[in-house]
Amino acid sequence: MIVYKGEMRVQWLLMRDRLIILLLSLGISFVNTGSAMPLNGAGGSPRLSPHRPVLSLGVFLSAKWCSKCKETKEVSEFNNLVASKDGKDRICRKCTKEKYDKNRATHISATITWNRNNKKKCLNNLRNYRKNMSDEQRLRCSVRRKLRYAVEKGKIKRGNCCVCNEPNGIGHHEDYSKPLDVIWVCDKHHKRHHRKEINLLDYV
Ligand SMILES: [Zn+2]
Ligand SMILES: [Zn+2]
Ligand SMILES: [Zn+2]
Repeated sequence: MIVYKGEMRVQWLLMRDRLIILLLSLGISFVNTGSAMPLNGAGGSPRLSPHRPVLSLGVFLSAKWCSKCKETKEVSEFNNLVASKDGKDRICRKCTKEKYDKNRATHISATITWNRNNKKKCLNNLRNYRKNMSDEQRLRCSVRRKLRYAVEKGKIKRGNCCVCNEPNGIGHHEDYSKPLDVIWVCDKHHKRHHRKEINLLDYV
């Protein structure tokens, strides 16, 4: 048996993948030999088992292997990463979050220490950030500030999430010209609204 090492092994894997894609695109049915990674049917996606034929090129290309949890998942479960070859992170979103949560306290204290030791740089960064803000960003900032001020002064009270009723919602603005006219929503549902997965207007 030939033992492939390092660079040679990578070359071989790339060649094998190219061959698989070529065969698939020619419409030749290909039986997975078990060396390809099994797809973990997340979210009802089609499942590739070592003994079932790969169904289509689309299935093959929309899956990516996470080097942390060693599972094959839908490409949509990976964060975008401009610096990487395929534009996606090496580890899946769930693993990224777990990694971040684990190191959160360390991250925060390291940032605080850095900021303290680099006050000048820190101020400069902030100044540059403010200078480069677009008019829209500036407007959003000032509207949020007005809302925060009104809440602090007790002029208005933070409401519950209009979807799940979680207390202490975030004020979502449909119209930035009305700073105090907001829909109260929790962080989770706010993000889902901006990802256009739900529409908050359906809940108010
Ligand atoms: Zn993972
Ligand atoms: Zn909610
Ligand atoms: Zn919003």
